[in-house]
Amino acid sequence: MLIYLNDRFVKEEEAVVSVFDHGFLYGDGVYETIRSYGNRIFMRDQHLDRLRRSAGGIGLTIPIPEQKWPGLLHEAMTRNDVGNDRSDAYLRITITRGAGGIGLDPALCPTPTVVIMTKPLAPPSPQTYQNGVSLIVAKTRRNLPTALDPQIKATNFLNNIQAKREAIAAGAFDSILLNWESHLTECTVSNLFFVQAGRLCTPALACGLLDGITRDIVLSLARESQIPVDEGYFGVEAIHTADECFITNTSMEVVPVTVVDGHPIGNGKPGLLTQQVHRHFVANRTRFLEP
Ligand code: PLP
Repeated sequence: MLIYLNDRFVKEEEAVVSVFDHGFLYGDGVYETIRSYGNRIFMRDQHLDRLRRSAGGIGLTIPIPEQKWPGLLHEAMTRNDVGNDRSDAYLRITITRGAGGIGLDPALCPTPTVVIMTKPLAPPSPQTYQNGVSLIVAKTRRNLPTALDPQIKATNFLNNIQAKREAIAAGAFDSILLNWESHLTECTVSNLFFVQAGRLCTPALACGLLDGITRDIVLSLARESQIPVDEGYFGVEAIHTADECFITNTSMEVVPVTVVDGHPIGNGKPGLLTQQVHRHFVANRTRFLEP
């Protein structure tokens, strides 16, 4: 794998960063996970905008100008022979505060570290879509937005890792995190949707969750199809009594959830509206690719 590190592409074994990097010492950095379909990047500008907003949220200036990013992402794909007729690409951009003396002051780190990695995208198996996955409601609460805003896609991911550890210990695919007021938020790397009496429901951004790019597309496509949508404040009982449930993110698209906390959702099979939303997403996704 060839990795872009700071200002050039280097071999994987040469792609090393300093132990003084504040990304390593303090989780002081931001990242974005992007994908392509063939050689066209999905929602490229929206991902790059969110990267800029995340960096802005921690007062980090991205050292590479805006107009250079599309070319760099494509160069990463070409050099690694991914993002073509044979494979869709997974791309990860990481930008940390950079190396500096020990201490929290960002001024200790004059130069941010920039990394771009890419590899073939590994989508969930067909069985995952056919059978659905199980979730638990984690004891770990989602970060309070006034403590660490979940809209900042930060390399400090311990909040989500703690919830993922709970899911693994329970034998579940993932965890749903509640917020400080016991409202549903999201899962560890995906947004959460459920269906109640024909209405497509999802926690409002104000509950403290990442403004997922797939979430946004699912909401717009649902509105276009006249499916009633509720972005709101929901408690655990809303998910336990839902007719259907699914989760979304860039690499998984729409994955049905059939069990929550050991109880079946609806009839315990992927729901009809869930399947309709996913089919509609697949049918429309070229609208969201680069030209
Ligand atoms: N929520 C969290 C915490 C995430 O990390 C992610 C994606 O990585 C998402 C939601 C889904 O976001 P997107 O649809 O932009 O991939």
